[in-house]
Parts: sequence; structure tokens; C-alpha cells
Amino acid sequence: MDMGKPSFEAEFSEILLCKNELHETLNNLSHWMKDEHVDKNLVTKLDSAFIRKDPYGVVLIIAPWNYPIHLLLVPLIGAIAAGNCVIAKPSEMTKNTERLVAEALPKYLDKDCFAVVTAGVEETTQLLENKFDFIFFTGSPAVGKIIMTAAAKHLTPVTLELGGKNPCYVSDTCEVQNVARRVAWGRFFNAGQTCVAPDYVLCSLEMQEKLLPALSKAITEFYGPNPQESPSFGRIVGDKQFRRVQALLRSGRVAMGGQTDERERYIAPTVLVDLQPSDPIMKEEIFGPILPIVTVANVEEAIEFINSRERPLAVYAFSSEDKVVNQVLERTSSGGFCGNDTLMHVTLTSLPFGGIGNSGLGKYHGKFTFDTFSHQRGCLHRSMGLEALNALRYPPYSHQKLGIVRAASEVKRKGSCTLL
Ligand code: NAD
Repeated sequence: MDMGKPSFEAEFSEILLCKNELHETLNNLSHWMKDEHVDKNLVTKLDSAFIRKDPYGVVLIIAPWNYPIHLLLVPLIGAIAAGNCVIAKPSEMTKNTERLVAEALPKYLDKDCFAVVTAGVEETTQLLENKFDFIFFTGSPAVGKIIMTAAAKHLTPVTLELGGKNPCYVSDTCEVQNVARRVAWGRFFNAGQTCVAPDYVLCSLEMQEKLLPALSKAITEFYGPNPQESPSFGRIVGDKQFRRVQALLRSGRVAMGGQTDERERYIAPTVLVDLQPSDPIMKEEIFGPILPIVTVANVEEAIEFINSRERPLAVYAFSSEDKVVNQVLERTSSGGFCGNDTLMHVTLTSLPFGGIGNSGLGKYHGKFTFDTFSHQRGCLHRSMGLEALNALRYPPYSHQKLGIVRAASEVKRKGSCTLL
């Protein structure tokens, strides 16, 4: 609607994944919201110890433009399920979706508890001066810092779902054509405007030579000889974004693609080679249909490259050898991980989704969304009687009393696990 998103991609990423989240929540809510009874010691044996899932209160949800329905509604589902009131702020960049959400949601939701605020940067800055009980933000790391600073003034807890550059390591042993299709799909879906898209490929020079024809074949299979005419390929969201992505084409050498059309905000599916880590395209999140390939000698060098940069939202590793995939998993850190594919880990409501370090703070999807919007209140409800047992912890203290209290409340050491 706002960015020429192919209807298949809109249906899959905006509608289906939202419905899945909704159904998962409705199917399990009665169970998730129940008090969780926990272990007790001898002193509290006759009492009730439990975790109560309390709502935070009033929650602010701020969404970006790239999946403007999904990234607003998925957190909204969890916030409502956990019992909160919500102010939802869609992105001002995707005007049609913003208007749709602002008109449609109030028709279905209780106006006393839920409001949609349409706001640009200036109004959002004012909105953030208010005290919220929780802020759920999805967007860029730069704005994430502004949100966290505003939240800190009121000691408001935050979830920050941010972006970054997601590395994709391709080992020398793999089914090259399958890898090319899976990487191209993840990179060019939504015209590359996906926070978990594989941002760049790391592979050996030999693998790059095999990958280039395979990527070219995959792109033609997906979008035909001229992707500009393909109904399966989207456009860049706005003029400013278009110019930013277009400028990134100046890094390295264009191995395929590279065509642009400003009137349509079209950038062809493009693969770049001969890059330096210092090139502009290797310094910022691409957020467009460009795939740079950076060559490395081996998996060791790929891991070193990944670990020398900010921790990404996703790390991808392709190899026919499980041990290579596991090596990348074990020796790197990221919000999520997917071996031998791209994006697909995000489709499971059973997996937590979120970043680490520069890619964010907190997690959601499925039960994790409900937990994110719930305060876990630790509760102990004691009986009024049995005062003789309580007397043991009251003054005047004695060694004998301490011995009994210790025996009744001590957590005993089991097994042989040591921390050092
Ligand atoms: P953005 O940070 O520019 O904007 C996100 C939201 O913040 C919008 O609603 C916008 O109105 C608001 N905003 C912008 N500037 C603000 C300011 N100064 N003060 C207060 N609010 C402000 O991000 P974007 O361009 O809409 O989206 C792209 C970014 O979002 C990318 O970095 C991408 O990786 C990230 N993203 C992350 C996820 C995730 O789940 N982790 C998902 C989608 C997008």
C-alpha cells in the first residue's frame, strides 16, 4: 500500500504472522496468566508462594515503517493480553497504513483503554515527556537511545527492538544454489527493508565465484529478466531512503543489478563485490536490496570479522557440515540465529525475538510477548497462625534459634557444579 509491497509478502509477513501471534495468545492466555506456584522451604511449607502476572499499567508502543501492521499489532496483542492500557504510535512514514490503523483500531477497541496517536518526531518527543509504565520501541539504534534517555527520566522500563548489520557466513561446503535462493529471498524480501535481512555475505573467494552465478540464477528465477516489471519485488519507502540506499551502490563493484529509477523508487536486486570493511556500505545498516560479499580466508576469519563489530539482530551460517554451523553459533553473539536459512527463525512464535547490545534489549513473540508486558510480582501469602514457629526469628536472638532458622530455610548444595 505504501511501498509497493507484493501482496504475497504483505499477506505472509503482515497478516499471517500477526494472526499466528493472536491465535497463539488466545490459545494459551488462560494458562499464561495463571499464578505460578513456586518451590517453598520448610519455614513457608504451609503458605502460598506464587508469581502473579500483573499488567504494568499504561504502555507506549512506537512502531517503524517497514512492517507497519505487524510491528504495531504484534506487541499490541501481548500488551492487551497482559491487561495493559496502550497508546500505539504507528510510523508517520507509511501514511496510508497510519491512517488505516488510526481509523480502524478505535472501532474494535475500548476507547478508554486504547488509543492510536499519529505523530511525527516533534509530537513523539512531546509524547515521551509523559510518564508511561512501559515503552516498547521498534526502530533504529539511534532513536532507541533517544527513547531510552526519555524513559530514564521516569525510570520507565523499555523494550528496544533495533536494527544493525546481520552477517551471513557461507562455508565452502554447501549446496550453492540452495544457499543462493535462501540468501536472495531473505535479502530482497520487502526490497531489502527487513531488520533481520542478511546484510552481507562472508565467504571465501572460491565460494564467491560459485555464489555469483547462483545468485544471478536465483534473482532471475524469482523476478524474471527485469525485476522492475516483477509483481514480486517491492520499492523503497520514500525519497530520502531511496537516495540513501542509492548512494551505497558506490561502494565496491557491481557484480549484478545496480539499476535504479528514482520516479518509482526502484533499486534492482544488486550484488556488490570487492569491498573494504571501511566502505560506507559496510558501516551502516543497508535496509535496501543490496547484498555485499566480503571475502574471508576461512570460518575463523569470518567469526573474527563478526565479533569485531556490534552484536547484530541475527547471525546466519550456511554449511553442509553441522560442526561449522555450530562453530559460528557458539563463537558469536546475536539476538537470534538461523543455520542454513534466513529470516525463518522469526516465524516461530515459540522462539524469543529480540536483539542484544546495539541490536536491542528485551524479547517478544508468543509467550515472550505476554511476559514482556507483565510484571512478575513475587508473592507470599502466609497463614495468621503458627506463631510459635515464627518466634524463632524474633529477638532476643540466640545461637540455638539461628541454628533452627538456618536448618529450616537453607538452600542445600547439590551436585558437583562449580563456577570457577
Ligand atoms: P526510526 O528509528 O527512524 O523510527 C521508528 C519510530 O520512531 C517511528 O515511529 C518514528 O516516528 C519514531 N521516531 C523517529 N525519530 C524519533 C525521535 N527523534 N524521537 C522520538 N521518536 C522518533 O526507524 P525506522 O526508519 O522507522 O525503521 C527502520 C529501523 O528500524 C531500522 O534500523 C531497522 O533495523 C529497525 N527495525 C527493527 C526491527 C526489530 O524488530 N528489531 C523491526 C523493524 C525495523
